[in-house]
Amino acid sequence: MKKSLKVKPIENGTVIDHINKGKALNVYKVLKIDKNQTVTIAMNVPSKKNNGKKDVLKIEGIELSKEDVNKISLISPNATINIIKDGVVVRKFKVEIPDTIEGILKCTNPNCITQIENIAGKFKVEEKEPLKIRCAYCEKFLNSIEICR
Ligand SMILES: [Zn+2]
Repeated sequence: MKKSLKVKPIENGTVIDHINKGKALNVYKVLKIDKNQTVTIAMNVPSKKNNGKKDVLKIEGIELSKEDVNKISLISPNATINIIKDGVVVRKFKVEIPDTIEGILKCTNPNCITQIENIAGKFKVEEKEPLKIRCAYCEKFLNSIEICR
C-alpha cells in the first residue's frame, strides 16, 4: 500500500475540488476567508481525470457567494464545488464562467473611465477558451486577468 497523508473530512463547509494544478493558492487569495477559518490546501493530488494532477481546497464553516464562485471560474474553469453539511455532500456543482462580469476584475486600459474614476468594472466574456474578456466601458480586451479580492 502506498503511504498517503489522509486529511480529515470536514463536517460543515466547502470543498473546492479539481482546481487546476498549482492554482489552489490563487483561489485561496481571491476568496474572502477569515484568518481564523480552518483551511486545508492540497496540491498536486493525483486525479482520475486524464491521469492528471489537481489541487483541492477545503474551507470549514463557509459557503461561497455567487461572486466567489465566479472568481474561481476565472482561475480554474474546471473546478467543482462541494457543499458539506453534517459531513455529507449536500450540493455539488461545476463552476461556470459567466457571460458578463461585474466587479471582480479591473480594466487593464489605463485610459478607461473605470480606471480614471475608480468605478467598478463591467465586462463581457467574449470567449471562454482561451479566456477573452472585453470591458463594457472602453470595449478593450483585458490583456491580463487580475481578480480583486
Ligand atoms: Zn475599460
